[in-house]
Amino acid sequence: MNQSGGHELGPTVGMIGAGQLAQMSVAPATALGIRFKVLANNLEEPAALVVADTTIGSKDDPQTVLAFAQSCDVVTFDHELLTPAVMEVLKNCGKPVYPSPQAVIYAQDKLAMRQALTDLGIPCPRWSQVDSETDASIFAQEVGYPFILKTSRGGYDGKGVWFVNSESEISAVFANELPPGSHWLAEEKVNFTRELAAQVARSPSDQCVAYPVVQTTQRNGICSQVIAPAPDLDPQIAVLAQEIALRIARELDVVGMLAVELFDTGDGVLVNELAMRAHNSGHWSIEGATTSQFENHLRAVLDLPLGSPRAIATWSVMGNILGGDVPNLYSAYRHVFARDQELHVHLYGKVVKPGRKVGHVTAIGSDLTDLCNRVDHAVSYFTGEINE
Ligand code: ADP
Repeated sequence: MNQSGGHELGPTVGMIGAGQLAQMSVAPATALGIRFKVLANNLEEPAALVVADTTIGSKDDPQTVLAFAQSCDVVTFDHELLTPAVMEVLKNCGKPVYPSPQAVIYAQDKLAMRQALTDLGIPCPRWSQVDSETDASIFAQEVGYPFILKTSRGGYDGKGVWFVNSESEISAVFANELPPGSHWLAEEKVNFTRELAAQVARSPSDQCVAYPVVQTTQRNGICSQVIAPAPDLDPQIAVLAQEIALRIARELDVVGMLAVELFDTGDGVLVNELAMRAHNSGHWSIEGATTSQFENHLRAVLDLPLGSPRAIATWSVMGNILGGDVPNLYSAYRHVFARDQELHVHLYGKVVKPGRKVGHVTAIGSDLTDLCNRVDHAVSYFTGEINE
């Protein structure tokens, strides 16, 4: 199945999307000696900057996607934003596509996901599809205020999620336009003690590995910090979260990485949402685990034996760098590296815009407080919040 025409390289994995997740897949693809190509919107996208075999074209154009897929041995994604027409083309492209369009639907559409998980008996917040303001108000009377309204599709980083504090706020939320194919999803507001994520990798041969369950902290709906493993997590809850993720991967036939975002309620977990690709909650694994999420995603879609997901340090702490006041992030390197020789920095090569994820830092070791302080310092320096 190798299309490399006699070269020594392994098969070609093609990734649709060229953001930072595709960019961070390059290092393990290189180490594995496989061919890696991306479909990018333009040459400025993070992966397009570094992948020699970049196709420029629209991920929304079925013919472009079909031609790209046919030039690969295996097709995968760095996002789930695929139009129905593109999904249809991929179903019939004659190449393995992982995760399959049939599975991806549960990462694209929060209503489809809620229904599937509820059918499987997997614990979720109380939820309902609401097609009118009256429906939303009836749901709110059942679960109480505040409650949550979400668009079933098209949301990311907290966009498409509204906290509704009173009946009078419902109409303002409904005034927002629904993305194509979307409906309104209402959920009870969970009084969680913290947010967790459970990541697993699964191959077509049904080999699965589960990463340590991590704690994620969101600021304004965007992940700001991840600690692996989640501190003080009851081992039984950790195993429960891993079992939930493994079960979802098998039942929904996910191949590749699956991230299950969870709410820790103190005595159990509820599923928030799913991502079927490498995920921000797993960036720590690049330096903190025996096999990173990016390598295991590639191994999984190639149906190779998976690598160990085990943590190599007591703690890993990852902090996201969101665009701030410093337009030239490189200028921060001298100070950050001089201060901390053990810090790992990833900058994605994106234009800095306020609030945009432009990079992350990771520190691993045995003193959690020290790691958190060092990561916080570096993030604050990169964003210009501090200058020393
Ligand atoms: P996105 O797809 O934009 O990441 P999420 O559905 O993950 O949206 O919601 C973003 C954030 O909003 C979550 O990380 C969580 O902090 C909060 N949130 C979402 N749903 C609920 C809920 N049912 N109860 C309480 N908080 C919620």
